Formats: sequence, structure tokens, C-alpha cells
Amino acid sequence: TTETAKVHEYQSSSAAETIRVGHQIAKFLNPPKFLILRGDLGAGKTTLVKGIAEALDAAAPDEVTSPTFTLIHEYEGTQGSDGHKIPVKLYHLDLYRIEGERQLDTLGIDELAAPDSIVLVEWGEKFPSVVKRSQGEIVMLSAGGDARKITLTLKD
Ligand code: ADP
Ligand code: MG
Repeated sequence: TTETAKVHEYQSSSAAETIRVGHQIAKFLNPPKFLILRGDLGAGKTTLVKGIAEALDAAAPDEVTSPTFTLIHEYEGTQGSDGHKIPVKLYHLDLYRIEGERQLDTLGIDELAAPDSIVLVEWGEKFPSVVKRSQGEIVMLSAGGDARKITLTLKD
């Protein structure tokens, strides 16, 4: 079988610009979505979620903080344009501190994947079960200084 994917690429040269890229990416995140958010520490993954959450009317950028210790942050928002808005739940996870599939099981990620949910998982690539579930990924690459290359890949 051939697997095709849709790829969208963006450039950013500041945190503010990454938030705007988050607005662009949010347009492609019609639920259900379950995506890995991949990139080095400080690449700007959480910053991108600030933009996605803002675009979905789920939270202001200041209200989106790193789930490094809290593990899962949940926001309620809407997706779609004026005449056709649907409620969505945005889940932002950070699995950096999770060690092994057994500890991951205690989080109950399976329950998050609902028809109205958008799940974004930082450090999800550490876990085969998360990779298997994912419908694609957003990759953030440092390109020197504050420059970032951001790629959204959605599997068909
Ligand atoms: P991560 O979640 O990938 O560890 P964060 O979003 O928490 O990264 O932090 C990124 C840091 O880098 C922030 O302090 C942010 O201000 C800074 N930064 C500098 N340039 C950018 C950029 N182009 N995009 C995103 N963040 C940037
Ligand atoms: Mg982060």
C-alpha cells in the first residue's frame, strides 16, 4: 500500500511569528486529530500551541503554559468559520518526563482521542504506542538564532 501525506511548511523568525504560524496550522486541525509535536527543547513547540489555542478561541497565549510537570492541559474552543462552528477540546501533552509505556498507560491517552478532540503531544515520538496512534506530526527545526522551520504533515 502507498501512504500519501499532506505537507505544509512555514518559516518563523520570532516567537510572535510562531504564534501566527499556529493560527495557520489551526485551520488544518479539524477534529478528531492526534498529532505528535516534535522538536528539540526550546524549539518553540509550546509557543506554537499558544497560537493554535488562540486561533481555536480556546485560550489566550498567556494562558497556555508548558505541561512538562502537569502532563496534560485541556482547553475548550471552537473550530470552523462563522456560520459553521463546532466545539472542540484541545489537549496539549508533554511526555518529556514520562518513562516507559507502563507510566504512559497511567495517563489514559486513549480516552482523549474523541471525535471532538485535537490532541497535540510533545515528545510523543518516544513511545511506539503514541507514534502508532498519531495521524501525523508538526516538526519544529531550529534554523539558527530565532529562526525556525515548521512542517505540518498529515497522513491520509
Ligand atoms: P519547547 O516547547 O519546544 O521546549 P517553548 O515554546 O517552550 O519550546 O520555548 C521556546 C523559546 O524560544 C521561548 O522562550 C521563545 O520565546 C523562544 N523563541 C525564539 N525564537 C522563537 C521562534 N521563532 N519560535 C518559537 N519560540 C522562539
Ligand atoms: Mg514545550
